[in-house]
Amino acid sequence: MCRNHVATRLQPFGETVFATWSRLSQQHGAVNLGQGFPDFDGPPDVIEAAHRAMVEGHNQYAPMPGVPALRQAVALDFGAATGLAVDPDADVTVTAGCSEAIAASLLGLLNPGDEVIVFEPFYDSYPASIAMGGGVMRTVTTRPPLFGIDLDAVRAAITARTRAILLNTPHNPTGHVASREELEGLAAIARDHDLVVIADEVYDRIVFEGRHLPIASMDGMWERTITLRSMAKTFSMTGWKIGWAVAPPPLTAVVRAAHQFMTYAIATPLQYGAAAALGLGDAYYTQLQTDYLARRNLLCDGLERAGFGVHVPAGTYFVMCDHTPFGFANAEAFCQHLVEHVGIAAIPPGSFYGDPADGRDLVRFAFCKTIPVLEEAIRRLGRLMG
Ligand code: GLN
Repeated sequence: MCRNHVATRLQPFGETVFATWSRLSQQHGAVNLGQGFPDFDGPPDVIEAAHRAMVEGHNQYAPMPGVPALRQAVALDFGAATGLAVDPDADVTVTAGCSEAIAASLLGLLNPGDEVIVFEPFYDSYPASIAMGGGVMRTVTTRPPLFGIDLDAVRAAITARTRAILLNTPHNPTGHVASREELEGLAAIARDHDLVVIADEVYDRIVFEGRHLPIASMDGMWERTITLRSMAKTFSMTGWKIGWAVAPPPLTAVVRAAHQFMTYAIATPLQYGAAAALGLGDAYYTQLQTDYLARRNLLCDGLERAGFGVHVPAGTYFVMCDHTPFGFANAEAFCQHLVEHVGIAAIPPGSFYGDPADGRDLVRFAFCKTIPVLEEAIRRLGRLMG
């Protein structure tokens, strides 16, 4: 027997669902609509800016909080989105993607036994990061078809040990975009109970219905919110792993307390590329929206015609579907059939729930793929019928 050397607090998590299904996808030569990464490149000018930074000798450690040019660009961008006056030196920290920002926020904030409220289905790094921070996760379930936030359930989940709410809007995997009422309700709860809000807003630029509202811009929320964003989704650069945290100095101290010992500093030339990306301007964002709307509509129509119950997303590049019309016992069995016999990889969302049974009827597809790839997937969906 092989001894398990993995720390007890990490043993429950095993391998991430994304690694598992990307491997299966490759094994079966499937169209990979599982792990969410674009199959197209980000803007050439951004790649050129990173290349230029390398050639010009920006190849040593960046400052711990990030390259000044990127922190200034982040401060301008976040200031424009929120109307807040953001100080690039005091309020911005560059991290290794949003995942490091999530981990740093939690590791820097939590004392053993502190509780964090998380909405399920959740992104799978949330429970693992809370566990690494010695915290305890309290979940509030959101349910189809709307996957809205039940404010009474949030209030009921609060105890004397609650320290933070971990919010993700637009939401992976449900595509829910939190409404003003939901955010104002959460803000009131955070103020009443003196909680920190960690707001994962990495899909802020991929919204089809409604509008993304940053919770940090609501009354009395700037001082208690850590907002996390990244390049990955907005600029189709998931492999660069460039993200950032924006927060007032006492919460920036939380992020940096952990960040300085996890990664210390982030790839210098890529930070110059990221600064160039944030300078692209509104025409770029409009095109991104237009392209994703076309991809969303194409895949959602195809899924509906194939017989799924489709929960059309208001934002993000994911769509959750009800697979039960096909008669499989659960999401794993359905996804296994889909990858082996239909040639499409998708994600069974069980690991996004405290109790995997809550995700049993659902399957997540990613549509961050070129139109011909989505069309090929839709053609293959034909094999599901009959
Ligand atoms: N964010 C991506 C998704 O939800 C995957 C990231 C990862 O592979 N860890 O699919």
